[in-house]
Amino acid sequence: MNKVERPNEKVKDVFDKCISKVSNRDLKQQLEGCVTEIVQDEKIYQEKAIKHKLIEFPKKNLINGKVPIGEMKKVYTYRMVNLNQPGRIFYNKLLNSIQICPFCSVRDVATLDHYLPKSQYASTVVTPVNLIPACRDCNSNKDVFDAEIEEEELWHPYYDDYGPVRWLYVLIIETFPPVAEYSIKIPFDEMEEVMGKRIQKSFDVFELGKLYSTHAAKELNDIEFYIKSLKREAGVNNVRKHLQMMYESFYEADSNSWRTALYEALANCDWYIEDYL
Ligand SMILES: [Zn+2]
Repeated sequence: MNKVERPNEKVKDVFDKCISKVSNRDLKQQLEGCVTEIVQDEKIYQEKAIKHKLIEFPKKNLINGKVPIGEMKKVYTYRMVNLNQPGRIFYNKLLNSIQICPFCSVRDVATLDHYLPKSQYASTVVTPVNLIPACRDCNSNKDVFDAEIEEEELWHPYYDDYGPVRWLYVLIIETFPPVAEYSIKIPFDEMEEVMGKRIQKSFDVFELGKLYSTHAAKELNDIEFYIKSLKREAGVNNVRKHLQMMYESFYEADSNSWRTALYEALANCDWYIEDYL
């Protein structure tokens, strides 16, 4: 899970652009009538999100008392996502703002995820701060996930930040080949409670334990020849030093990446260094 810089784009500009080519006059008038409410809701969204209280943001099936959620979803699907439609320029801008998915921190960004799902929140279907660049798997694992209680809220990459606190750990399972088992340990004395719960919930919903174990298995296989050679040529202590330096290097880049946790565990695992290698 990583923090991402909040987009500067405003919903008014996005929505105006999206509906700029609506040819049906009645529909265009109805959609134009939604602008005030959508802009107001963007402000409410930002106020709630900063306080980690998006749970209080209102679900809506209608905008301006008459435009149904289906019509709003069409604005997103046909006028923002669709190639050659005017809103696509904003879609591309958001999509291309980062390369790696902020939920899993592993896979490529391929789509935009509605943090508050468009199936229930009619007023935020094209609101930039609700649209998060994500990989396809995280987007699909999240699906229409919508927290009913505060404890169920997921990591919000535009608003959440855990600072330098460590929370991702590995247990090396002593098998041939070894297996890296990932888990979360939240230091609640160092971190806001709400943040810790979001990390835990997101780890489960995005199935990150399984994803990271798979990557770690390949990494262990890829480094084995080198680490064995190092042990033979330079001895156990240098292997330990090397693994520790790898841990520190990955920690500098990302304190909770799957590699940071893996190398920390390897550097401290006597079985791996002394017996397995
Ligand atoms: Zn992802």
